[in-house]
Amino acid sequence: MKLEQLEQHDHTKVRVDLCFGCGGIWFGHLVSLQLAPAAVITLFKEIYAHRGDARRPVADRLSCPRCNGCLSHSFDLSKAGRFSYFTCPRGDGRFTPFYQFLREKQFVRVPTSVELEHIRAQVGQITCSECGAPIDLQHDSECEYCHAPVSFLDPDAVEKAVRMWSDVEHRRALAPTQEAVAGALQRMPAGRLDQRDPDLISTGIHAIARLFEHIN
Ligand SMILES: [Zn+2]
Ligand SMILES: [Zn+2]
Repeated sequence: MKLEQLEQHDHTKVRVDLCFGCGGIWFGHLVSLQLAPAAVITLFKEIYAHRGDARRPVADRLSCPRCNGCLSHSFDLSKAGRFSYFTCPRGDGRFTPFYQFLREKQFVRVPTSVELEHIRAQVGQITCSECGAPIDLQHDSECEYCHAPVSFLDPDAVEKAVRMWSDVEHRRALAPTQEAVAGALQRMPAGRLDQRDPDLISTGIHAIARLFEHIN
């Protein structure tokens, strides 16, 4: 696990543990964190930096890094739909897979029918962001195996996060412009034709993180 300081809405920092092997975040207490959009940009950069790490599928049974107790799977609803996480029965904390975190924070959503047509025009088959199974976009709009709906990074949420990140870091001049962000999301998944059956969420994260690559 890697300790990371993430920015909250009130500009204080909170420490979380990132696990790239499991692809998730360990929050050391159960209170809902008020992470700022800027924190999501930090996460994008981290996920991108560790894109080569071997990813273990999130096991059905995970144990608490503090008490070793069995974490239980919980579900909750955000405006963007259902998301899930794993909680310690003794209240030591919770583990949220990266993509579930993005769903919770409404960075990931289901495309509108127009957006889905746009994606279909570019790519026939994608990989389910939740379970890794192939999804035939021409016939399906959800995963046959885990029933996760086809989801992608919301360009508006990302643009807003980039703006806030720039304000917080006082790097307005260096941060990618709104046009660059919109362009990067427009070009995906066609921008990664090297990758067969792209996973729309990780493709989006990589497109955004690449724009930040030259900023430390
Ligand atoms: Zn515990
Ligand atoms: Zn699936």
